[in-house]
Amino acid sequence: MIEIKDLHKSYQMGSNSLHVLKGIDFNVKEGELVAIMGSSGSGKSTLLNILGMLDEADSGSYFLDGLPIKNLNEKIAAQYRNKFLGFIFQSFNLITYKNAVDNVALPLYYQGIKRKERQDKAMHYLEKVGLAEWSTHLPNELSGGQKQRVAIARAMASEPKVLLADEPTGALDTKTSYDVMELIQGINDEGKTILIVTHEPDIANMSKRIVNLKDGVIIDDTIVKQVKANVNV
Ligand code: ATP
Ligand code: MG
Repeated sequence: MIEIKDLHKSYQMGSNSLHVLKGIDFNVKEGELVAIMGSSGSGKSTLLNILGMLDEADSGSYFLDGLPIKNLNEKIAAQYRNKFLGFIFQSFNLITYKNAVDNVALPLYYQGIKRKERQDKAMHYLEKVGLAEWSTHLPNELSGGQKQRVAIARAMASEPKVLLADEPTGALDTKTSYDVMELIQGINDEGKTILIVTHEPDIANMSKRIVNLKDGVIIDDTIVKQVKANVNV
């Protein structure tokens, strides 16, 4: 699903250049649940943003579902993003003046899907994350965990091939983090390919594979025995 080879990325700051990714080789197969770990500044978000086509590498190759991601014009890039990628962020990034179901439906609006189908799909995914009764509530009427569930429903609504989550539990307490990660496990159990960036070893252990970044390279890439959340905590 994802194949990258010898990926490099530097940021220019004035006359200085910061070499952040120094040759990343990394493949992800369909149906994997991968946690990307590493200390602050190790390049986790930089890598995820390149995988999510929010940013471009300076060199190296990236194939997404067999398609080369290089020098795409903005129209094609937007099509690929819609078709292939769903994003989940630490800070949820919900639209504050839209209720839960309208937040979930918004990406479908940009894809030109008709109103009735948008609403039906959005409700379907809100149900999947356990928030059907909260559909008309605004984000500020929801808890952090509920907001992240809405964001997960929104990411799933356009039925992308890959979900990318940057610290999805970073703003949540421990119990809520496990609940959200359990939801992510469930989505993965249904076959979705998911990559999450996390600082928290307990969250990483709920994935199936842990990749460790240090100083711009992968220093460890291990299949782990997946920990399933204790549902009754
Ligand atoms: P954290 O765990 O704190 O989120 P991270 O592993 O996600 O860290 P990145 O955000 O990928 O780290 O940043 C890697 C390095 O690149 C850091 O030193 C950061 O300051 C720098 N950096 C990130 N984005 C930019 C940018 N747009 N311009 C300049 N430098 C940047
Ligand atoms: Mg980061």
